[in-house]
Amino acid sequence: MMDTNNFEGKIGVGEREGRVFSSLVAKRHYYMSHGIGRSGDIRAEQPKAAGSSLMLKLTEYLVRDVLSICGYQKLKEVMIVPLATGMSISLVLSALKSSVNSTENKTENTNEITVTSPVKQKKYVLWPRIDQKTCLKCIYTSGLEAIVVENILIGDALRTDCAQIESILATRNDEILCVLSTTSCFAPRVPDDIEKIAELCKKYSVFHVINNAYGLQCSKIANSVNQAHKKGTVSCLISSTDKNLLVPVGGSLIYSRDKKIIDTITQIYPGRASAGPIIDVFITLLSMGK
Ligand SMILES: *Cc1c(COP(=O)(O)O)cnc(C)c1O
Repeated sequence: MMDTNNFEGKIGVGEREGRVFSSLVAKRHYYMSHGIGRSGDIRAEQPKAAGSSLMLKLTEYLVRDVLSICGYQKLKEVMIVPLATGMSISLVLSALKSSVNSTENKTENTNEITVTSPVKQKKYVLWPRIDQKTCLKCIYTSGLEAIVVENILIGDALRTDCAQIESILATRNDEILCVLSTTSCFAPRVPDDIEKIAELCKKYSVFHVINNAYGLQCSKIANSVNQAHKKGTVSCLISSTDKNLLVPVGGSLIYSRDKKIIDTITQIYPGRASAGPIIDVFITLLSMGK
């Protein structure tokens, strides 16, 4: 009854969606062809597709359980998007950008004269270097620019240069949108010092996005994320579905303790999306169990 097509006394004339030519394709998607979301909201119920809407909700609950089993505490919201990690980070950065820059030109009405005072755009992402092209490209894809912070060699490990991050934030925080830190990476680089970065982000009022691409199995990272939340700002985290949950490439998890941030991301997503990667996660978590 969510669907106007099913309203009593109504006769629908045709349906442009959900028609699948090939039976092989129909089968491959378990006859669920509507995907997820509606044009205005990727997590909204799709009246034409009660089944996949329900599946999306159930999968979100299962993924929250997975994160809690992995040691991530107090997460408020989890979303699963049919985008790999890099595109998801771009989506997150775009959402954060839109949330601060929407009042770009503050217009005030003083004595009948309209004064427009341009506010400095927050167009930079402070980025402790990681040599993975995706991590840099996702910043540019969202229309932002990177300020690269080189890591420092201590012993045989490349570590986050927190002093450098602080000195940049102290002078330029009005044009810096966020710090994009990385927890899962290859030696000799070690995970970023996200606890210290969280403190700095809080002190200088910038967002903190954590690229946790394949970090879910590591309880040390989970602890460190919880500590970072306690000490400072963690705006949201992104993890790959294929790298963590043994499914084909195609999806990622975006999660946060802040419902508002997830709502902003949900709303900025243009259009509907494939349910494919969500079906994969749903089936996998049910068959894998706790
Ligand atoms: C895999 C990976 C990415 C890119 O992920 P895609 O899912 O291919 O977009 C980004 N950052 C890190 C640290 C990764 O390991």
